[in-house]
Amino acid sequence: MPELPEVETIRRGVATMVLDHTIVAVTVREPRLRWPIPPDFASYARGKRIQAVARRGKYLIFDLGGDRLIIHLGMSGRLFVVSDAAAPRKHDHVDFELADDRGDMLRLRFHDPRRFGAVLPWPQAQAEHPLIQGMGPEPFGEEFSGEYLFLMSRGRSAPVKNFVMDGRVVVGVGNIYASEALFRAGIRPGTAAGRVTRARYLKLAEAILEVLSIAIEAGGTTLRDFANAKGEAGYFQQDLMVYGREGADCRVCGATIRRLVIGQRSSFFCPECQR
Ligand SMILES: [Zn+2]
Repeated sequence: MPELPEVETIRRGVATMVLDHTIVAVTVREPRLRWPIPPDFASYARGKRIQAVARRGKYLIFDLGGDRLIIHLGMSGRLFVVSDAAAPRKHDHVDFELADDRGDMLRLRFHDPRRFGAVLPWPQAQAEHPLIQGMGPEPFGEEFSGEYLFLMSRGRSAPVKNFVMDGRVVVGVGNIYASEALFRAGIRPGTAAGRVTRARYLKLAEAILEVLSIAIEAGGTTLRDFANAKGEAGYFQQDLMVYGREGADCRVCGATIRRLVIGQRSSFFCPECQR
């Protein structure tokens, strides 16, 4: 499943190619995604110019000058640019035909074998979108900090790992990133969120930004693959300290990495480095 860093990588890659392009036509081959694409979607999008490609959590938001499009990749979705003539393959559910000011054409293509993704209009008249409303701050946004985590966590008995993975607290901290960030901050994943100190939360917020940044950097190396739809997503596999390393030696202290199931998710930690 694409996580925030992969979505951000896709956002950056796609934005460089589609900005200031006008949507000339939309072909919906399969409207039955996680939420059905409305029948009038093509006419909604047609003629509008892509002014920005933003991201909120794992949702891509195309600013069409007031009206917007929301695209979510679900479990298996991909979004990439192909040349205008590229014939659709299986699971290529939506094509946006785009033209720049010189009339050069390209296609933005949405591909999703499992169809858990979404392609939806977000009209200007609708101030809030239900899919985005209620989301916590972006980790790279100004609202997010160690102090914020500390204040939000007071009185909470849920494990700190669940707390940082809760999208109402902060968006985009998936299982791998939570495990790795907790290791860097020296916090055991099962500790009650309300019992973690301010100093540890300051470290944790920094660690979250570090692991996400590393993953975005790594994703960036496969940008061209995304664009051409030839390669796999640039998942975060480099130098994991704890995630997936049960029974292996801690890279810092040599102790044996342990696994714990918290909230039905595997959590990995070093019993020496994380207290
Ligand atoms: Zn260790």
